[in-house]
Amino acid sequence: MSEAEELKKRLFNEKKNGWEIASEEEKNNIFEYANGYIKFLNKGKTEREIVQNSIEIAKQNGFKNIEETETLKQGDKVYFVNREKAVYLAIIGSEKLENGLNIIGAHADSPRLDLKPNPLYEDNGLAYFKTHYYGGIKKYQWTTIPLSIHGVIVKTNGEKVNICIGEDEADPIFTITDLLPHLAQDQMEKKLKNGIDGEDLNLLIGSIPYGNEETKVAEKVKLNILNLLNMKYGITEVDFLSSEIEIVPAFKARTMGLDQSMIAAYGQDDKICCYASLTALMNIQNPTRTAVCMIVDKEEIGSMGNTGMESHMFDTFISELLNKTNENKPNMLDKVFTKSKMLSADVDAGFDPIYANVSEKNNASYLGNGICMNKYTGARGKSGASDANAEFVAEIRKILENNNIRYQISELGKVDVGGGGTIAYILADKGMDVIDCGVPVLSMHAPYEVTSKLDLYSAFKTYKAFYQI
Ligand code: MN
Ligand code: MN
Repeated sequence: MSEAEELKKRLFNEKKNGWEIASEEEKNNIFEYANGYIKFLNKGKTEREIVQNSIEIAKQNGFKNIEETETLKQGDKVYFVNREKAVYLAIIGSEKLENGLNIIGAHADSPRLDLKPNPLYEDNGLAYFKTHYYGGIKKYQWTTIPLSIHGVIVKTNGEKVNICIGEDEADPIFTITDLLPHLAQDQMEKKLKNGIDGEDLNLLIGSIPYGNEETKVAEKVKLNILNLLNMKYGITEVDFLSSEIEIVPAFKARTMGLDQSMIAAYGQDDKICCYASLTALMNIQNPTRTAVCMIVDKEEIGSMGNTGMESHMFDTFISELLNKTNENKPNMLDKVFTKSKMLSADVDAGFDPIYANVSEKNNASYLGNGICMNKYTGARGKSGASDANAEFVAEIRKILENNNIRYQISELGKVDVGGGGTIAYILADKGMDVIDCGVPVLSMHAPYEVTSKLDLYSAFKTYKAFYQI
């Protein structure tokens, strides 16, 4: 090596493809870990399903419901479920909580179509569900794909009916129709964002009228659908008023690519970080600082409400940890927060060569290059950003470098092209040090998103190392 080459090697921050430097053993670990993730995705597509499956995994690993414990001591593992849509988990560390917590937070909700409160109608012999989209979607992507129906209907007597239709091979699926190209002349002239109206995202669910031609009632197709629902679930139309039903892609999560390096699936934003942070917590023993994992709801629509990160439910959980470890005293919660460190585990826009012009190559995150940190998010002059302090970034870098984990630090797109946000600012607001730290995704928010298995495993290793500082 020439002197200049050596100097360059020493001074440049060279971007390396993670696959090129992964050992055979590491590659095996990556593929095996990804298989578990694919199974996790195929068992849960909604926040309620993810929360339920996460609790099951936690229980298998010795976690107990915090409401069933009177006191907590070092090494104890507990979880708290917030209205079936969010879960907070903790392993009590050897240090006092007073010294701060190591927290990783991800979100289980993903963009989708929710049913309206009065969803069912019939039009010209076809029955439909009306929807209201949830989160940032490109509406045209949600037509002409197989869709499934997930959710709950709660009756006034308190009975809760769980619904999941379209995942089992024996189930029917559903779809939203689009116009044939032959008659789409006007539609094709529209701007892409106006090509499909929100009010036209109506799910086609039936076409057989009730009875026969002698049956003299109006809306026979709707009646037939309600009759089927009544026989199967014991519900009537009014019960939709107290339901939460989500329409999600019926696609299975699959290995992708001839080299099997990637994963294609619905809802990887942010179920990929849910899985990585949850399994990281399951794989540590006796942490020094108390380790907390949270899987929250409503991130895609602003984190509001009592299951979103803005809610004080999380503070209540930490107060309960303080009460049950006998550490609580006035102002203790605030003190704990100011000494806590947090990774806001959320996905980042991966660099897409087909749409290279929205990224700035030096500050984009690349599939296969490992865990990705966003020092800040926001848009237009960093507006609305939670900007991680350089001191904290250095601390995280040290953990990653000491553990030989490949990482990249990027921005979400070119300056003034767009932007985004996560839950990071909410925790930073409580006084914690926070940085966004997740996995690059292609086609983010589309019905089928793409990630790299290497980056997924890199996230798992990062989160595990973070819990152990
Ligand atoms: Mn996200
Ligand atoms: Mn998102």
